[in-house]
Amino acid sequence: MPPNDSAALEARLLADVLATANRIAIFTGAGISTESGIPDFRGPSGLWNTAKPVTFQDFNSSEEARIESWERNVRLHDMLARSTPNRGHRTVAALVASGRADCVITQNIDGLHQAAGIEDGQVIEIHGTCRKASCLDCGKPYALPDTLARFAATRSAPRCDECGGLIKTATISFGQTMPALPMQQAQAAIAAADLVLVLGSSLRVYPAASLPEQAARQGKRLVILNAEPTPLDGMASLVLHRGIGQLLGDAFDIV
Ligand code: NAD
Ligand code: ZN
Repeated sequence: MPPNDSAALEARLLADVLATANRIAIFTGAGISTESGIPDFRGPSGLWNTAKPVTFQDFNSSEEARIESWERNVRLHDMLARSTPNRGHRTVAALVASGRADCVITQNIDGLHQAAGIEDGQVIEIHGTCRKASCLDCGKPYALPDTLARFAATRSAPRCDECGGLIKTATISFGQTMPALPMQQAQAAIAAADLVLVLGSSLRVYPAASLPEQAARQGKRLVILNAEPTPLDGMASLVLHRGIGQLLGDAFDIV
């Protein structure tokens, strides 16, 4: 079949699945933001090989690791200042606005779902956000632009002016305990859904990937739209290996 015909067929298949769902739980990963110019971790041009994550243990124990982490924050914020939501984010926002989905569960820290128009309260950020920062010891919040400016001026890891603790962005690092509330909210959203739609995740990061995995074990329909195969493809009722923006956008236009 010519590639365009198979893309149209896949859009129709996805449209049918979306149209027959009563309530959709949308679960997104870094792959939904690559079309906005933000690299993912494990995709073909991902950061995994060039910039291994700074773990929470490293951040706590090494000033060198903290400086590396803040340098990455500076680069990420420069990138985000130039990035806008793409068709994938806009379609997810349209699915939420249409009432087919109540919320979006995201592993992303980039805030692009909110930039596409979804209310903060309808975006469950299970890995936190890079748009906020706070003291790890006393919890005092810090405005990110000021903190980035402080780092740029001193080139040392910013510390809390109340207690001297380390300031960190509100992202959940590898090795850091996940906050309970977003995971509970995500579990509740999945429990209420009859269809879980995964968009752009390698489904290799746990416990995040346990959310769609458990949904499939409970007999819910699992649909995975990801450029590459994932370990959960065998549990899914529909797997589509394509770019998100066009396929999801075309499917939504048909529904
Ligand atoms: P991942 O990098 O492990 O996987 C992304 C997947 O998306 C890959 O399998 C890739 O093939 C696929 N993909 C890339 N572009 C695509 C496109 N246009 N259409 C369809 N598929 C596409 O990402 P993950 O599963 O979210 O886990 C990585 C962790 O890193 C998460 O915790 C996430 O928070 C964090 N992260 C976030 C961002 C962000 O906020 N934008 C970016 C990088 C990493
Ligand atoms: Zn403090």
